[in-house]
Amino acid sequence: MQLQPFESNILIVDDMENNSRSLLESVITPLKQTIFSVESIQEALHLCKRNEFDLLLLNLSLPTINDLDLTTLLKNKAETQQTQIIVVTNIHNPRANLVQDLNINTIHYIKQPINKQVLTHQAEILLKITQQAKQLALRNQELEAEIAHRKQIAQELLITSAAFNEGAAGILITNDKIEIIRVNPAFTKITGYEEQEVLGKNPKILSSGKQDDAFYQEMWLSLQENDRWSGEIWNKRKNGLIYPQWQTLTAVKENNKIHHYIATFSDISHTKEHEALIDYLTHYDVLTKLPNKTLFKLQVEQSLAKLARHKKAGILLYLNINDLKKYNDTMGHHFGDQLLLEFANKLQIAVRHDAITCRFEGDEFAIWVDDIEADKDEVIHISTKIIHRIDRLFAKAVVIDGMEFLITKSIGVALYPYDNETLVELLRKADTAMHRAKTQGLNQHTFFQTEMEQSARKKLDIENALRKAIIHNQLELYYQPQLNINDNKIIGSEALLRWTDEHLGYISPAEFIPIAEHSNLIIDVGLWVLNAACRKIKQWEEQGYFASINTISVNVSSKQFAHDSFISDLSAILQKTAINPSHLDIELTETALIDDFSTVCSRLRDIKKLGCRISIDDFGTGYSSLQYLKHFPVDVLKIDKCFIDDIEKDKASRAIVKTIIDLAAMLDAHIIAEGVENIAQLAHLNMVNCYAYQGFLFSPAISAQDFSDLIKAPLGVRPYNPH
Ligand code: C2E
Ligand code: MG
Ligand code: MG
Repeated sequence: MQLQPFESNILIVDDMENNSRSLLESVITPLKQTIFSVESIQEALHLCKRNEFDLLLLNLSLPTINDLDLTTLLKNKAETQQTQIIVVTNIHNPRANLVQDLNINTIHYIKQPINKQVLTHQAEILLKITQQAKQLALRNQELEAEIAHRKQIAQELLITSAAFNEGAAGILITNDKIEIIRVNPAFTKITGYEEQEVLGKNPKILSSGKQDDAFYQEMWLSLQENDRWSGEIWNKRKNGLIYPQWQTLTAVKENNKIHHYIATFSDISHTKEHEALIDYLTHYDVLTKLPNKTLFKLQVEQSLAKLARHKKAGILLYLNINDLKKYNDTMGHHFGDQLLLEFANKLQIAVRHDAITCRFEGDEFAIWVDDIEADKDEVIHISTKIIHRIDRLFAKAVVIDGMEFLITKSIGVALYPYDNETLVELLRKADTAMHRAKTQGLNQHTFFQTEMEQSARKKLDIENALRKAIIHNQLELYYQPQLNINDNKIIGSEALLRWTDEHLGYISPAEFIPIAEHSNLIIDVGLWVLNAACRKIKQWEEQGYFASINTISVNVSSKQFAHDSFISDLSAILQKTAINPSHLDIELTETALIDDFSTVCSRLRDIKKLGCRISIDDFGTGYSSLQYLKHFPVDVLKIDKCFIDDIEKDKASRAIVKTIIDLAAMLDAHIIAEGVENIAQLAHLNMVNCYAYQGFLFSPAISAQDFSDLIKAPLGVRPYNPH
């Protein structure tokens, strides 16, 4: 490389008279340099701070020290470190020694008087030296830049090669003829192809055939227009399995001509699996694999929009499996799950393939049938046909855990657009109808009717009024006498709630207790009853009634019994009222006892520890397991009224009554027959050694005052029939 000559700057510092300076200038001028002349060291210093000089000519007469300062400055300044300095001096000048002492070898001396030739020659040589030094420095700089550049390229290559060889993304490079020329190890890992198997081949060997021609056309178009394409694509591994990948294609161009294509891709099957799983869990019921509530609602909403456009009808069936909770509790959750599965399977068989069947929640299912072009009567007819089909399938027993088993259900129906046009309302109405069907027995179905809404409304009114009644102490306990069958003496009574609301009138506990149980209000109601009964027991203890009677029974709902605070509440009330706990009898129905065995057992024992007695109410109508019963500390079994009703005519009822009495004897428990209405029933009970009875034959539930009068009345009170 040819070195370019550089322009040189020369500074003459001359404080002599003009002659001397022009002499210097005349010597230098032929060198065709840029010459600056100044007269004082201060000016020189000023200039040097802003300019770069190659040669400095100092001709100073004044004995100032500043030529030394000047040279020192020039040597310290990076740009002038290479500056050559010629000092015109005479032998006796003491400063020359001083400068030499600094050991600066770019300073040269020329003696007075100035020899023109010598000065020219020296100046020429020195300027050449600076020029060469400058050129060398420049070359050096260029070399350093080149080295830095190469280092950077080497480093980038190292990174690129690491990314290529060790990165998780698969890379495939083709030439402009779209023949594979390189692949990386990740490519082999993902696709299963070794490099030598694919070199020279078209990447089409990887395609799965899952994308159509239009997909590839669009991809190539994007590559041509933007030099780049990114997207999801399904490819095929060497083993034939297809898998999703996220791929980026880049066209590498030079002078607007593509010479390579680079495909970078990652296997997203795991991400996809996760997405699919989350999507599945969001929209499907894991057990039955049916759509869940969320997906059902989405699909029915879409269907409703379609029906509205085409003026067609739809049917919503809302189904509930009867007694699933009971089966879960008594047979275990595995049994319950099998039952749900059988139920789901039967439903799917029963309905059209395009119907939407879902497990709505727990033991509730929903079916949506749409696209029906018919008037209301016809839609009702179609609904009934569907229900009959369902009924026929459910009439066949299923086998669960080796047991033959009949699944029963209740169905509510709401029709679009006749009952309502919104899904929320249709669901509400089908649910209301289903609950109505439930009250009508097993395997019933009911179409929604406005009157049902009224009944739901009434329930709400009762609930609200009951809440107020508790607060305002408007409830009252009546007492139904219980009598020994042998001597007809009153042995106790059952406390029964009575409530007359100022607006709703008299409401039977048979009506409001289930409502209270449904809304949890039963806990407050139950506490009120226990408090009131214990206060009355205390009063009657003080009046000495317990000399002739044994107990007052109080009904405790299963929800109240299962409540965490039941035992502590009972204990607090016993303490507060300070009654003899054996005067209090806790009546529990069989449903209270089918919960978790050990919890029930320990709760019953706690009641016994507190000193109270325990009766099982409505015995024979529930699901008592005799296996469990023998472990329960029960004092009394109360035979349900339904068996007493039929005792004269029905052999089976008589057999059941007899069995219950025998069972009680084995359990060391007493028997009370409920709902005895006539002498014949009483006579029969007497015959089978029933211990006690209660019923309209002797007395309905009467006020506390009436009951207290009855106890005080002289012996020999005859049973009477109030009707
Ligand atoms: P239950 O505990 O089986 O009470 C017996 C029911 O049969 C009472 O109805 C009683 O009046 C009625 N009864 C008694 N003898 C005869 C009879 O000879 N013929 C007829 N037809 N009926 C008779 P009531 O008072 O209407 O109570 C109904 C149900 O409400 C009770 O059935 C009980 O389950 C519940 N209940 C009543 N009071 C309470 C209470 O304080 N707490 C709770 N949790 N439930 C209560
Ligand atoms: Mg009772
Ligand atoms: Mg009863």
